[in-house]
Amino acid sequence: MRTVIGNWKMQLTIAEAEQLAKDVAAALPKRLTDVRVVVCPSYAALAPVRDALGGSPVVLGAQDLCHEEKGAYTGEVSGRELADIGVKFVLIGHSERRSHVHEDEALIHAKVQRAFKNKMTPVLCVGETRDELDKGLRDVVVERQVRAAFEKLELPARCEMIVAYEPVWVIGSGTDVDPEDAARSHYIIRETLRDIFTPETADRRCRVIYGGSVDKGNIAGFLSRPVIDGVLVGGASLSAPEFTAIVEAARTADAKG
Ligand code: PEP
Repeated sequence: MRTVIGNWKMQLTIAEAEQLAKDVAAALPKRLTDVRVVVCPSYAALAPVRDALGGSPVVLGAQDLCHEEKGAYTGEVSGRELADIGVKFVLIGHSERRSHVHEDEALIHAKVQRAFKNKMTPVLCVGETRDELDKGLRDVVVERQVRAAFEKLELPARCEMIVAYEPVWVIGSGTDVDPEDAARSHYIIRETLRDIFTPETADRRCRVIYGGSVDKGNIAGFLSRPVIDGVLVGGASLSAPEFTAIVEAARTADAKG
């Protein structure tokens, strides 16, 4: 089953986030058995969005969490608070956090571990910058980021991990990436996960999704690649008709190999 995640970033007021949640819920079927849909509002909008989603199959995600369980961490939000609100998925290591607040790989690793401790699915974001791409470092960077986040983790008995491959230079740019290029990075990520966790564990527990200027016009190209298990959507997730068209495409897309 494919996964579609909307990252609303810090783009909306609480009232706007509630309205978007209602519009998305109203436009989707009451039961979804062929796709998983997650929306990630900002912290302040999490509980209002949860309530606005009502009984819809859309699942609540957060954009970050604190690496510590509790304590003197002014301004942070803990995994247990997020779990209390009903958050099931959490973005970790988004490129905007790696660059704007200098999150490093040790911190990102600790956040992944914290997500597991609170029974949430981490959505680890990885991807190369334009400079790294130009220097031919794409594969090295992506493999390093996946290893740093996932090696030496204590895995709970039942858990799932998602890696979102997001080329940093594509995010928010409207630039179209060749789905074949994206698929190559997905292949490297999957092989790295199989090496870290064993092939059986990685294939059972890990999903690899694509993010970067996905919209209803280009999604079919990504989802036609069997190594791409879904999408992480920024800008296009802020419009209910655009986002639900992406969800619809994910329900019907055919992986061609
Ligand atoms: C993102 O920021 O995770 C993202 C994928 O953004 P956009 O779709 O706007 O490129």
